[in-house]
Amino acid sequence: MRIGNLEVDVVRKNIKNLYIKVHPPNGQVCLICPQKLDELTIREFVGAKIDWIKQKQAKFEAQHLKSPRQYITGESCYFQGDRYLLKIIYHQAAPKVVLEPTKLNLYVRYGSIKEQREQVLIEWYRQQLKAELPGLIDKWERIIGVSVNDWGVKKMKTRWGTCNTQAKRIWLNLELITKPKHCLEYVIVHELVHLLERQHNERFWSYVTLFMPQWKQYQAELNRYC
Ligand SMILES: [Zn+2]
Repeated sequence: MRIGNLEVDVVRKNIKNLYIKVHPPNGQVCLICPQKLDELTIREFVGAKIDWIKQKQAKFEAQHLKSPRQYITGESCYFQGDRYLLKIIYHQAAPKVVLEPTKLNLYVRYGSIKEQREQVLIEWYRQQLKAELPGLIDKWERIIGVSVNDWGVKKMKTRWGTCNTQAKRIWLNLELITKPKHCLEYVIVHELVHLLERQHNERFWSYVTLFMPQWKQYQAELNRYC
C-alpha cells in the first residue's frame, strides 16, 4: 500500500493490535494488523507514526552510508529530499533513469560494472540539477538584487557551494540535488549574498536572514547526514 511517499507492506494476521516495523538495511516499512482492519484506519495509524518511521529510516540510511555503495537493486538513493529504492534494470539500449513514486529505476547496458552504473546516476543527477538552477538563480538574483556572470555544478567534498566574488561566479555541489529544494535554495541565497558581503560576518548573516528567515533550519537539515 502506498501512503504518501512511503511503500508499506501490509501483513494481515489473526491479532488484535496493529504495529509497524522498519527493517534494515533499506528501511522497508511493514505493518502487521488484524485481518479485517479497514484501509482508512491503517492510513491514519501510519500517518501518526510518520516521524518515527522517518527517524528509523534515517538511522538505517546513516549506517548504510558508512559502507561503500554498490549501485545495486535494493540500495536507497535520494532525489530532492525524498528517498527512493534503487532498481537496476539491464537492457540493450542507451542508459537512462526513470523515476517512479518510490523507486529510481536505473537502466544500464548488460555487463555494466559498478563505476558505470554510478556514472549513469551521477550524470542524471547533474542534468536534473542543471535544469533546476537557471530558474532558481534568476529568482534569487531578482530578490537579492545581484547577478552572477556564470554558474556551474561540480562534485565537492567539503562545501555545498562557493562564490568567486571577483568573477561573480558560483559553483554548486552536485549532491544538492539529493536534498530538499529549500536546502538548494538556501545555498544559492548564501552564495549570492557573498556578492554583497564576502566574509561570513554579522553583515553577511543579517542579509541571509533578511532574504531567507528560515535559513538556520535549512542549514541544519543540509548537514544532518554528512
Ligand atoms: Zn559562505
